[in-house]
Amino acid sequence: MSRTFRFAPSPNGELHLGHAYSALLNGDLAREAGGRLLIRIEDIDVTRCRPEFEAAILDDLAWLGLDWERPVRRQSEHFDAYAEALDRLKAMDLVYPSFLSRAEIRAATASPDWPRDPDGAPLYPGGDRDLPAREADARIASGAPYAWRLKMDAAMAKAGPLAFAEQGRGPAGETGRVTAEPGRWGDVVIARREIPTSYHLSVVVDDALQGITDVVRGEDLFHAASVHRLLQALLDLPEPAYRHHGLIRDAAGRKLSKSEGSTGLRVLRDAGATPAEIRALVGL
Ligand code: GLU
Repeated sequence: MSRTFRFAPSPNGELHLGHAYSALLNGDLAREAGGRLLIRIEDIDVTRCRPEFEAAILDDLAWLGLDWERPVRRQSEHFDAYAEALDRLKAMDLVYPSFLSRAEIRAATASPDWPRDPDGAPLYPGGDRDLPAREADARIASGAPYAWRLKMDAAMAKAGPLAFAEQGRGPAGETGRVTAEPGRWGDVVIARREIPTSYHLSVVVDDALQGITDVVRGEDLFHAASVHRLLQALLDLPEPAYRHHGLIRDAAGRKLSKSEGSTGLRVLRDAGATPAEIRALVGL
C-alpha cells in the first residue's frame, strides 16, 4: 500500500519557518517512501480563515519546491461529512450540548487545584451533562449558545484502552507504542453551534477519508493524538502512524506565531532568501 502524507495548514495567517519545516519534512518523507503528499486546507473557522491566506500559503509551498496532488481538500466544503460523524456520536449517546459560557467556565474552575488539559485550559466542569434531553432541546431551540462535548468517561469506557504508534517523539520523549490518554482533555468540544465541527472531529474524518497513513506534524499536537485515537476507535476509522517533530523556535526559545515578522516566509522571500536557504535554516 502506498503511504500517504499530508500537510494541513489553517489559512488564518501566513506561513513561517515552522510551517516550512513541517511541510518540507512531509514532502521529504513522502518522496523517500515513494508515497503521496496531500495538502489539506483546515478552514473550518470561516471567520478567521481567508482565501488570500490560502492563496499565499499554496504559493509559498510551491515556491519551496513541494509537489502535491490536486485537488486540495478544503474542510469548509465538507461540513456534511463532519455532521455525519457527529450524528454517529449522538446516536451512541457519547456527546451532549454544553451551555456554559467562557466566563461561567472560568468562574467555575477558578480554584488553583482545578485540573487542566495538556494545553493548560481548565477541564470543563460539566453540570449540564445530564440535563434531560427535553430541557437541552428547549434551550437549543431558544437560541442559547452551546457546544457539543464528548462524554469523555463514557467514550473511553466504550473504546477500551488505546495506544498509538509514535515514530517521532512527544514533548517528554514519548516514542514507540504510546498509551493514549484522552481523559487528560476532559469533555472536549466536538462541534460548535456556529462552527458545526471541531479541529479534532474534522481531522480524524479527513485523515480517514483521504487515506492518510502517516501524520507528520509539530509536537504541540502530540497530546491531541490521544483524542484523535479515541475518535478513530469510536467511529471505526483506520489508525495512522504519527510522527511528531520538534518545533522551530525564535531566538528567545518561543514557539513561532503567525504574526512573527522576521521568521515569516514572505518576509524571508522578499529579503531574497532562496528555497535552499530556507531548508538550511530549518535544518533539512
Ligand atoms: N491545521 C493544524 C495547524 O495549522 C494542523 C493539524 C494537523 O496537522 O493535525 O496547526
